[in-house]
Amino acid sequence: MRGESKRSREIFVMLTNQCNLACSYCYESVKNKQVIVPEEIKKVITADIEASRAATSEYFLIFHGGEPFLAFNEMKELSEWAWNTFPGLKIICMVTTNGTLLTSEIRTWLTQNKLRFVPILSIDGARESHNLNRSNSFDLIDRNFFRDTWPWQAVKMTIAPNVLNKMFDNYLALTKEGFIVNPSLAKEVAWNAERDLPVFAAEMKKFADYFISHPEKIPCELINIPMQNFSPDVTVPHNRACGAGENIVAFDVNGNSFPCHAFIGNPNQTYNNESMNEIFEQLCKNDGLLLSSGCDGCFIFSYCSPCYGLNYTARGEMGAFDPVMCRFNKVRVLAAADMFSRMLTSPDKYKVLDGKSPDNLRLILSGIKAVFENVNP
Ligand code: SF4
Ligand code: SF4
Repeated sequence: MRGESKRSREIFVMLTNQCNLACSYCYESVKNKQVIVPEEIKKVITADIEASRAATSEYFLIFHGGEPFLAFNEMKELSEWAWNTFPGLKIICMVTTNGTLLTSEIRTWLTQNKLRFVPILSIDGARESHNLNRSNSFDLIDRNFFRDTWPWQAVKMTIAPNVLNKMFDNYLALTKEGFIVNPSLAKEVAWNAERDLPVFAAEMKKFADYFISHPEKIPCELINIPMQNFSPDVTVPHNRACGAGENIVAFDVNGNSFPCHAFIGNPNQTYNNESMNEIFEQLCKNDGLLLSSGCDGCFIFSYCSPCYGLNYTARGEMGAFDPVMCRFNKVRVLAAADMFSRMLTSPDKYKVLDGKSPDNLRLILSGIKAVFENVNP
């Protein structure tokens, strides 16, 4: 949380701009064959760690792309270098991957390092939906390897407009394979509020019904939104939830620094040190609260945390949120309120409410009431 002296630091490293797939909703707009030069990136990472280690001893080194496994040698070299160079620090390496490029050599290395190197697999559900948007790659992924090696790590399921009406079915297909699934809507694609909001609301109701009829399951993040935070009796700080530019830094393939990976890579923006310095300053001085006048006074601001990086790269301003995504967020909160209101009729039955005191349950109920009164998509 903000203000804690030992907050962990996230260092994103864009390993390569290249990708072997062409996903329909990909927002990485620069794709070329450029790959990092490890010696150069080691210098900027070292400088960052030296500057931040008084405040933290826990780091996440997060590799990004393109498809990072196209630069496996560089990724392996940087990971081993970081673990060996800073033995007093806890450094967990992570990578988001399409999972299609694992050789037996890579599998062996990953298995040896599975407790300190964790991949987040992008997989969009059942074969048909996945293949539609992710270059027919479903059968190129060794799903058993990912599931069995990191059973605690959720996979990333991205929902694009053309599979929105299968969102719940795709979630179920992956959970039946034994994955923990974290569904999220594709960002900066052509959502259409009139066409898509009713479909999204109907899919969210399927999630609510499913978790009502499976009380032993903890609802997925998509719908497991803490209702007590909306209670008039709870004060949630209006801080931005993300740490872009604060406890997060990202380096592009040339070693230039950005507040997070979402700020990298818009060919229409000319980045120079001066403009990036201004952005870092802006992020640090006002907590993001007033970055968008449109969000001022929004009832669900503390939960929403609009993405400054995507806003900036897509629309040129950190506060310029996507108005359709804003309405989707409100539908999500309403679906969560509906689900929890039904659970509260017999709270003892539901694992997600396990151990909640009568006071906690009262706050959840008043949060639900406040959502129904104040949120209108
Ligand atoms: S829901 Fe919309 S208005 Fe509210 S904080 Fe999010 S983007 Fe801003
Ligand atoms: S700006 Fe967006 S992508 Fe970057 S840390 Fe914040 S929420 Fe995440």
